[in-house]
Formats: sequence, structure tokens, C-alpha cells
Amino acid sequence: MFLKRIELQGFKSFADKTIVQFDHDITGIVGPNGCGKSNINDAIRWVLGEQSVKSLRSGTNMSDIIFSGSEFRKRVNIAKVTLVFDNTAKVFDSPFEEIEITREIHRANNEAGYYINKTPCRLKDIQELIMDTGLGRDSLSIISQGNISSFADARPEERRGLFEEAAGVAKYKKRKKISLQKLEKTKENLDRLQDIIDELQRQIGPLEKQAEKARQYTAYKDELFEIEISVLVEEIEALDHAIKQTEHEIVAAKAQQIEQETRLDQNDASIEALRKESYALDARIQALQQQYTKAMEESVQLEKRKVELDEKRKYTLQAADLKQKKAALFEMKQEAEYEYNDRKARLNDLRTRYAQDANALNQKKEQLSGLNEKLMKERNALGQLENRQHVLDNMIRQPYQHQAGVRTVMNARKSLEGIEGTVSELIVPKPDMAAAVSSALSGTMYQIITKNEACARNAIRFLKNNQSGRATFLPMTVCEHPRYPSSQNRAIAQSVKGAIGWANEAVTCAPRYSNVKDRLLANIFITETLESANECAKRLHYSTKIVTIDGDVVHSGGAMTGGRNRNQSTPLTLKQEYEQLNGTIQNKKNQIDELVFSAGRTARQIEEEQQQLIAQQIECGKLENITAVKKQKLDSIRDEYDQIHVDADGIQPGESDDSLVQQISAMHRTIDDLTSQMNALRTTRMSKGKELEQLETDIRAQRREINAILQEIHKNEMQHASFKAKQESALERLNADYQMTYEFACTKRKDIDIDAARERVRELRNLIARLGNVNLDAPAQYDEIKERFDFLTNQKNDLLEASRQILEAIEQMDETMTNQFTDMFDKINTELDGVFKSMFGGGKARLSMVDPEDVLNTGIDIDVQPPGKLIKNIQAFSGGEKALIAISVLFAILKARRIPLCIFDEVEAALDQGNVERFARYLSHFRDQSQFIVVTHRPGTMEQCDALYGVTMQQDGVSQILKVMLKDAVSYVHKEEQ
Ligand code: ATP
Repeated sequence: MFLKRIELQGFKSFADKTIVQFDHDITGIVGPNGCGKSNINDAIRWVLGEQSVKSLRSGTNMSDIIFSGSEFRKRVNIAKVTLVFDNTAKVFDSPFEEIEITREIHRANNEAGYYINKTPCRLKDIQELIMDTGLGRDSLSIISQGNISSFADARPEERRGLFEEAAGVAKYKKRKKISLQKLEKTKENLDRLQDIIDELQRQIGPLEKQAEKARQYTAYKDELFEIEISVLVEEIEALDHAIKQTEHEIVAAKAQQIEQETRLDQNDASIEALRKESYALDARIQALQQQYTKAMEESVQLEKRKVELDEKRKYTLQAADLKQKKAALFEMKQEAEYEYNDRKARLNDLRTRYAQDANALNQKKEQLSGLNEKLMKERNALGQLENRQHVLDNMIRQPYQHQAGVRTVMNARKSLEGIEGTVSELIVPKPDMAAAVSSALSGTMYQIITKNEACARNAIRFLKNNQSGRATFLPMTVCEHPRYPSSQNRAIAQSVKGAIGWANEAVTCAPRYSNVKDRLLANIFITETLESANECAKRLHYSTKIVTIDGDVVHSGGAMTGGRNRNQSTPLTLKQEYEQLNGTIQNKKNQIDELVFSAGRTARQIEEEQQQLIAQQIECGKLENITAVKKQKLDSIRDEYDQIHVDADGIQPGESDDSLVQQISAMHRTIDDLTSQMNALRTTRMSKGKELEQLETDIRAQRREINAILQEIHKNEMQHASFKAKQESALERLNADYQMTYEFACTKRKDIDIDAARERVRELRNLIARLGNVNLDAPAQYDEIKERFDFLTNQKNDLLEASRQILEAIEQMDETMTNQFTDMFDKINTELDGVFKSMFGGGKARLSMVDPEDVLNTGIDIDVQPPGKLIKNIQAFSGGEKALIAISVLFAILKARRIPLCIFDEVEAALDQGNVERFARYLSHFRDQSQFIVVTHRPGTMEQCDALYGVTMQQDGVSQILKVMLKDAVSYVHKEEQ
């Protein structure tokens, strides 16, 4: 037998351990109402997994199925039921030949226990074990009176369960349910994953850009590290050299300053000494002047006395004899001769000196007019220079006079966004390069540099709106990648005789305009002469524009431009010319100052000398008169003397006054001596004056020189400070950017082309600056998020694959279920008609699907036509007929499919005696293929049973079971009926 036995203990009315052994195909269970027959059915369903307390006909709690006690029996605390199955036919998918399924429940904690072959297991394991064996909840195996009576009245959909069970699709349904749950869960997981993936995707894009930027930054920094240390070391060294050079120049200039100041001090001392000497000379001249005045007074006195003496003599002569007269006249003649010769000699001296002095004065006058002429010329020249300065000043102040558009934009630059300035304003030629750079830039020098193209568009719109001219704009953004000459062309150009260099190296500009500068000038070469320009152009195959230092041009292609305009100033040359002009004007003014000083000094000297000359002239005039008077006197005395003829031998000199004449003569000599002494001293004084002036001139020149030296020192000190600052900044950069001392950096220095490296450093710094804010954590963050993103994307793909597989499995299950269901349905349908005819003694019955298109969900209708009846609506049949229809279907199912165990709980209760017998006979047809346990009250059924168990319940409310004979069983029925 399939179900070998049931062991009950504590289950409902079976308080005591009760074992029901099944040894026959059809076992009947009989007994009076309420004795506990159906409790056996309940116990079997309970063990097979029934979870509904209601369907077990118990209270509200599963523990209510435990024997609750009676008036005479105490309640028990455990219910336990075991079903023992024979599995030799492998109804259960298990290697065991006997399967023992046990369920128990404890009242104390409502705790349930499940066992298969005494091994604890889960409810699920039991459900799986019995699945599709035909056993189990709502199965075909356990049919009660309620099932039978409700079959006809049930809705088509409710009937479907029976056919599903028959078709054995429950396991697929369950699997499908699990699959759908899994699918639902997978979908939820997918949605959740997709949300996270979407969020990560939102982050990943910007983060990838940031990471790329950070990687770029790191690469630039690494490259910078590789080369900048060498550049910085080189720069620090060069600056060190420059610092030492300027220090050396400062020391030399200071030495010069000291030397000049010493000389200045010496000259000051000399001036002091000269002044003292001059004062001494002045004092001596003054003293001589006093002596001279005194001598002159004395001379006048002597002259007076002489006149008196002469008068006295004349009076004496009138009374004297001839001899005495002649002697006196002789004496007077000698005196007169002496006086005349003396005056004449003095006059000659005076004249000679006068002539000399007059000559010297004339020379001075010529010198003065020469100086004045030169002064006039220099003043004219200065005037012209100042005119030019004024013109340049105006031109510098209005640099774009002929470019109305440029002028308008530059005037409005404060209100226009992104206007950086004109090319000529922002790019400054190095000394002496203005003409060459002007020609190199040509018209582009008036272009206006803007921050970007939008700013240029804005400025052009402004010019259009105001109708104020046109201008060309150069946005910095278009200059970001300047083209440079190839290294081959560089080498060729540099090798030409007279080569100077590339035009971008002949200018300076703020670092931010470096690309603009290179864009405009990096491909133009500068040479010394037009010949070298031609040569260079030829060697470069006329591919490059060449300009000369003078501004002549050999265009790429070979055309040449040159010559000179009257005014060929450009904004670039203007500044250079203006600065040079300032220097020239200053020199000119210094020259004029010198000339004015010299002319003034000469004019003063002329005046002084002229005064002296006039004094000499007066003196001469006086002396001429005196000499003439002396001559007249001599002549008159000589005449008078000659007219007296006496023997000369006898002449006795009369009263002689030689001493007076000699005194007078001596006095004149004294006066002359004093005069000549005074003149000599005056000459000395004058030469001292000249010396003084010369010294003063020298001192002024020295002071100017000292000023120039001081300026030079200042300039060098400024340069020194600037070099120092640059060096400190380079050292600071070494320290801050590379954490290196200079000494350590020297050990890291590489043998590289420093110029190229410097250029690359500049480029790299620009590139780094252009990167803006950099998130250095971005690569790590990106990698982390990317890893997570990839992981989750893989997970998503796995889930999608899983979904696909689940869907595929569901599809397969649906297909299997559809096939199995349809097959079984057809089989049952085929069997039904025969069974119906047997049960009803004719007529026909047929099952149909409500929706054949939807086999998996369709409800099942049943069309029956008992013999001789035309009723089609199943609801209209009597209760017995309905039960018989349901039993027909049940038997059709049993025919279509083998069910190992069927438990019928009063299924034939509603049938009349004849139909019961027909039912029982039909039932016995299946005895070889199924085991039947039939709870019944009907003797007709009992008769078909191979064995009968009677269930009794005494007053203690406890069911007991025992084997009975048919007649005993029938007697139960009769007892009840009485
Ligand atoms: P009928 O022929 O009228 O269908 P039956 O023999 O099938 O009757 P059951 O329904 O099997 O009778 O048994 C009902 C009996 O079981 C009742 O007497 C009831 O008191 C008893 N019973 C049910 N649950 C318990 C319980 N937990 N403890 C004790 N007795 C119980």
C-alpha cells in the first residue's frame, strides 16, 4: 500500500496514540456522527502541510488542533501525527523505500516541528516532496463532501485548480511564482542599481574631465620638475653674476665718486687759498695805491717847489751876469733834458704797454663775439630740438591720430570689456630695435589685443553703432598656439653674416602677451644690413620676412621695401626718439650754460681791461702833455742858453737844485714803479681771478660728474635690488615648488639646452595657468567611482542576464504547463463522457475552456446532458445530480491520471442508494491503480471496501479506532438512523 499507516497522538479527538494500518486498496472508515472520522482526514492534510486552521475545522489557533480535554480527560500539550508511505514505486522523488512524514505542535509556544524520516526539516521540504504526487493541500487525493457539492456551483476559475493538480503543473506554477518573485526582486534590484548607476554616471562625466585635467596638470608639473630646476639654477647663477657685476660697478662708481669728491675738496681748498691770495693781492694793491697817491701828492709838492724854484731862478737870472746866467741856464737845460727824457721814456713805456693791452683787449673782444656767435647757434639748435620734443610729445599723447577706429576704442576701453591695448602699447622694442620692430610689425602694430573673440565682436559692434571708424582686433584666444620657425631655418638664419636674431627676441612684453608677441614676430628675422637681409631671404628660399635694423624689409617672396620718409615715426620709434631727444636737449643746455658762463666772464674781463686801457689812455694823454711841456721848456731853455755867448770854460754852475729834479724824477720813478708794481699785482690778481673761475668751472663740472656718478650708482643699485629680488624669487620657487636648496638643486642640474628649456618652462607655466582650478584627488575619486560604476554595470548586466534567463525559464514553464494542462484537459475530457454515461446511464458531458487562448488562466466550464434531459445550466441540477457530475469528473480525472492515494470523505453523501452503489462499483474499478480511504456512512460504499475501520468515541471525548466487519459497520449506520 502507498499509505502504510497513520500514527496519531494528541490530534483533535485522538488523545491517545492511535495507529491506523492500511493493508488494502479500499479502506473504509465508518462511525457515528462526531466520533472523529473526519479528524483522520484532517490529520492527513495537517501532516501534508495544511496551514489553514479554518479548513482544519479548528479554532483560531493552530494549537487548537491539540486535544483540548473533556469532562473525564485532561487536555494534552502536544499533537503529533506521522504518515508512513511506501516509496518503492518512487512516487516521491527520494531514494528511500519508505517515507515517514511527521508533524507536531506544542501548545506551550505554538512551536511546530516537521520531520521526514525522523529528520527535522522545513514545511517547504515536505511541500516539495509531495508536490505533483497528487497528494497535498487542495489535491485530488483528499476530497470531502464539501468539495463535491461546491464543484458544480463553483465559478469556472475556481474549478481550474482541480485540473491543474491533475495536470501536475503545480510544481511549475510554484516555480513560476518563485521565478516571478525573483523577477520582481531582480527588477527592484535593477531599478535600485539603475538609480545608483545614473547617479554615478552623472558624477563620472565631470569627474573624468577633472581627472584628465589633474593628470594633465601632474604631467606638466612632472615635466616642469624635470627642466625647471636646471633653468632656475641657471637663472640664479646668471643673476648672481649680474649681482656681482653691478656690485663691482657700484664699488667702482663709488671709488670714482670718492676720487671726484677728493678732487672737489682739493679744488675747494685751492679756491680758498686763491681767494686768500686774491684778498692779499687786493690788500697789497690797495697799499700800493695809497703809496701811489702819497707819491703823487709828494710829486705835486715837489713839482710846486720846482716851479717856485724855477720862478726864483728866473728872478735871480734877471739880476745875474751872462756868465752866471749861462751857467744857470746850463744847469736848467740839463734838468730840462733830464725831465724831458725821463717823461718821454715813461711815455714810450706807457704807449708800448697800452698798445699791448689794447691788442689783448681786441683779442678778448673777438673771443667774446666768437662765444656769442656759438651761443646763438646752440640756442637755435636747442630751439629746434625743443620744437621736435613738443611735436613728439603731442604725437605720444595722441598716438592714434590717423586711426579713428583705434582711437575711439582706446578712448572707450574702460567701458568696453576685454580691451587689453594696442600691439604698439604692449610690445616694447629693446634699445635700438624700434625701427626694425616697427617694420616687422608694420600695420599690425595698430591692432587691438582683446581677451577673446567675443570682446572683439563687442568692440566692433561699438564702432559700428557709433560710426566711428574701423579697427583690427587680435583676440588672445586665437594666439594660443604660435608657429615657430623650424630648427633648420633657425640655424640657417643665424649663420648669415650680419644676422641679429628673431624679432620676437628683440622685444619685451608682459608674460600674458607672450603668445601674441610670438604669433606676430616669431617668424620675422632681423639683420644688420639690406645685403645681409637679401642673403638671408635667399637662403631661406624667400619663405620668411626679413627686416633690417634701419627698418628696410625683404618680404617673404622676395619683394623689398625701403627708403626714408620725412617723418617716418611710428608709435614704437616715437618713444625711443623722445628719450634720445631728452638726452640731447640736456647736453645742449649744459653746453649753452658753459658758453653763457664763458661769455659773461670774457665780457667782464673786457670791461675791466677796457677801464684799465682808458686809465692808461688818460695817463698817456697827461704824460704826452707833460712831455710836450717838458720839451717846450727844454727848447726854450736851450734857445735861451744858446743865445748867451760866453766862454764856456769859465762857466760856473750856478745855484743848482739837482736834488729837487732828481727827487721829482725819483718820485716819478717811484710812481711809475708803484704803477708797474700795481699793474703787475693786478695782472697777478687777474690771473688768480681766472684761476679761480677755472677752478669754479672745474668744480661745477666735477659736481655734474659726481651727480652722473650718483645717478649711475642709483641705477646700478636699482638693478642690483631688482636682480636680488629676482634671485630671491627663483630661490623661493626652488624652495616652495621643489623643496630644494640651491646647493642641492645644483646637484640635480641637467645638461640641457637652457634656452629651449626656459621657453618650455614658460609654455608649461602658461598651460598650467590655463588649466585653472585643479582637483588633484579627482583621478583617485574617478577610479573609485569608475570601479564602482563598472562593478555595478556588470552587476546590472548579470541581473539583466538573470532576468532574461528567468523570463526564458518562465516561458518554458508556461509552454510546459500549457502543453501538460492541455494534454491532461483533453485526456480528462475524453474520459469524462464515458464516465458520465456510466454514472448517469447515458447522456453526455464535456469540459470546455472559457478562454482557450489563455490556457494558463482560463476557467473550466462543464456542459452536461443527463439522459433524457435538456438542461444545460449546471446550476439547475439537483444536489444529488451536481454531486454525481462532480464525482464523474473526479473519476474522469482518476482515469486520465494515476493518483496513488485518494481519501474520500463522505463524497457520496448526497447520492441516492442507486447512485451510491453505482459510485461504489465504479470506485472499485480503480482499486489496482489507487489506494482509497473512504469515510462513509453509506452501506453501498462500505460493501465495496476491502477493510473497514470503526471510529468510536466514548464519554471521555477520545476517539478510538478498531477494525470492524461490514455488518458491524452497517449497524453504526442503522444506529444513527434510529
Ligand atoms: P460526522 O459523521 O458527523 O461527520 P465525524 O465522525 O466525522 O462526524 P469529526 O468531525 O471527525 O466527526 O469529529 C468531531 C469530533 O471531534 C467532535 O466530537 C469534537 O468534539 C471532537 N474534537 C474536535 N477537535 C477536538 C479537540 N481539539 N479536542 C478534543 N476533541 C475534539
